[in-house]
Amino acid sequence: MEKIIVVGGGAGGLELATKLGRTYGRKKRAKITLVDRKASHLWKPLLHEVATGAMDEGIDAISYRAHAKNHSFEFHMGSLCGIDRERKAIKLSEIKDDEGELLVPERELEYDILVLAIGSTSNDFNTQGVRDNCIFLDSPEQAHLSVRK
Ligand SMILES: Cc1cc2nc3c(=O)[nH]c(=O)nc-3n(C[C@H](O)[C@H](O)[C@H](O)COP(=O)(O)OP(=O)(O)OC[C@H]3O[C@@H](n4cnc5c(N)ncnc54)[C@H](O)[C@@H]3O)c2cc1C
Repeated sequence: MEKIIVVGGGAGGLELATKLGRTYGRKKRAKITLVDRKASHLWKPLLHEVATGAMDEGIDAISYRAHAKNHSFEFHMGSLCGIDRERKAIKLSEIKDDEGELLVPERELEYDILVLAIGSTSNDFNTQGVRDNCIFLDSPEQAHLSVRK
């Protein structure tokens, strides 16, 4: 069975994995795998609401694992750290807990088709002072930080 891996479960990657899962995964015509470094997805346009304290990320984020089960694809949590294009394999970094204890070792996943949908982050275009004085809003972690500020 053809193996399709989508790396990045953001607005683009999650939508794609869901559609591929429904179309090919459910009928076992292909094995669809989504990889993301996080366990859940929160749509970026909602980050303002997290930052103002009007939204609870823990309640409103979509769990990748549950969504994958409902839409016939697999989910692997991990951060992409390498691609071996000759062997058609991606490498995911090890996962450690807050105390530095190893939870999941470095792993490899093989693919036939690889889609990279790892998004982007804000660009300050090296404008002086921006990095030191602005609150960037690219992730829930940054949104939580701005609540505390
Ligand atoms: C604050 C804010 C408000 C916005 N408001 C709007 C709006 O109102 N309307 C609109 O159309 N657009 C809006 N956008 C833009 C929109 O959110 C982006 O265009 C869209 O999220 C891009 O989707 P994407 O799938 O390319 O990347 P993302 O949604 O950024 O997803 C990337 C995913 O890749 C994962 N990832 C990254 N690196 C790795 C790695 N090495 N290994 C594994 N996983 C990885 C991340 O965890 C993330 O889940 C807004 C963006 C921001 C930041």
